Amino acid sequence: MMCGVLGLLGGHSIPFAKDLLLLLTHRGQDASGLLWVDSDGYRSSKTMGHPAMIEVPNARSEIIIGSTRYPTCGKKVVSKDDLMTFVGPFSRESIALTHNGNITNMKRITNAGYECDSEFITDRLAELLSQNDGNLTRAFRELDKEIDGAYSLVGIHNGVLFAYRDARGFKPLVFGRTESHTVVASESTVLDMAGATLERDVYPGELLLFYPDMSMESHSIAQGRTHSHCFFEYVYFAHPAATIENQLVYDTRFRLGRALAQRFRKMSLEMPDYVVPVPDTSRPASQALAEELGVPMREIILKNRYLGRTFIARSQEERDAMAKTKYIYLEDKIRGKTILVVDDSIVRGTTAKMIVADLKKRGASKVYFAATCPPQTHPCYYGIDIATDKELIASDTSIEGIAKYIQADALIYQEMVGLVNAIGIKDVCLACLDGEYPTRYARQIRENIEVSGSSSMGRDYERSFE
Ligand code: 5GP
Ligand code: MG
Repeated sequence: MMCGVLGLLGGHSIPFAKDLLLLLTHRGQDASGLLWVDSDGYRSSKTMGHPAMIEVPNARSEIIIGSTRYPTCGKKVVSKDDLMTFVGPFSRESIALTHNGNITNMKRITNAGYECDSEFITDRLAELLSQNDGNLTRAFRELDKEIDGAYSLVGIHNGVLFAYRDARGFKPLVFGRTESHTVVASESTVLDMAGATLERDVYPGELLLFYPDMSMESHSIAQGRTHSHCFFEYVYFAHPAATIENQLVYDTRFRLGRALAQRFRKMSLEMPDYVVPVPDTSRPASQALAEELGVPMREIILKNRYLGRTFIARSQEERDAMAKTKYIYLEDKIRGKTILVVDDSIVRGTTAKMIVADLKKRGASKVYFAATCPPQTHPCYYGIDIATDKELIASDTSIEGIAKYIQADALIYQEMVGLVNAIGIKDVCLACLDGEYPTRYARQIRENIEVSGSSSMGRDYERSFE
């Protein structure tokens, strides 16, 4: 599952842990949970939806972990019964953990029918611990050899808080410490709010152990592989105030907008009256694009704040219905104008098509549509919920075809070089743009799909190809 994860050591109030978890709501709001330690052992509280709804005691705990879930395996959480099996954190005997990412070969390793890969990792790690005299480092070395995919995880083992990031470092994981506290989280904003300065990212392939006396050990589990940081964190997923791999996400988005301005210029289009962001992700990029073009940015598309992210809906009908209630328009500013709309990405084309139609219906004379991300032509098997080719309009449609489908007067896509320069770090995973999957099992899924075709429902990494 694609998620937000949190780990706290040193004594925090559980309601405060819940406030910190709220900062990771954008990473998943299908369900959420907290787990802490009290005199009787592990205790947890989970809820469908948003972390604000987790019921917690007004108490403190020395060690707490938490997660917000965005499902990329198993079903959507629809009833309380699903909370036991789908929502981390999970615990088995001496171990409790939660993870962010997606294991691509789970169905191949086990036929136990897990609906959630965090639960699978918990069970497998508990088994490996018992086979390795409770030695966590050795257990992780074996786990790394077995599983393929992305996993940034936080857990508790015998009173120690641990953090592990897979050897490719797909998903972010950072930590910070004060004299008396340690905070591990998917995003650095959590550290800021907890009063701990960002120390650094957990290195890919590194296991960190944080002890109650605030000492820390770092163990190298699996290093030396090329890193594959998910570029989509910068484009879409992470909060703009987060720093990942020493890059402030806001700055990256700003640079994406500058690069788009160059693309726009090359297309020799009439200058727009306004640059308009599709809120919220593309605001920094729109600002930069507007500044570069010398055109005002106007926020004439406003988001209905009280809706969740619409993308997480599992059926197209549900998505269409949610999309219809998602935006509010400043009608007066639209009539007769040429508008350059900027969104972070075009996945199925639902949002772009609707916005172009909405603006034209309100009298816009021309609508150009720009995406800060190049065409996503391949599904993600590592934890972004774009799991089959069929869901991606760019998998089989040309840019002209997409422009026609969304009925834009021009469609301006970011180019790969603009994206890579804007991100500014080497070693990013671009598999959804170029089909170069960095891990072995994901490549095998691709080969199988070449032969048997993509699934029209379900997720390709959850299928059995035998
Ligand atoms: P589309 O409407 O084309 O299917 O998807 C594009 C829209 O979905 C964009 O507005 C983008 O912000 C958002 N989006 C893209 N990828 C994801 C994702 O993985 N999760 C969520 N929640 N939204 C996404
Ligand atoms: Mg969006």
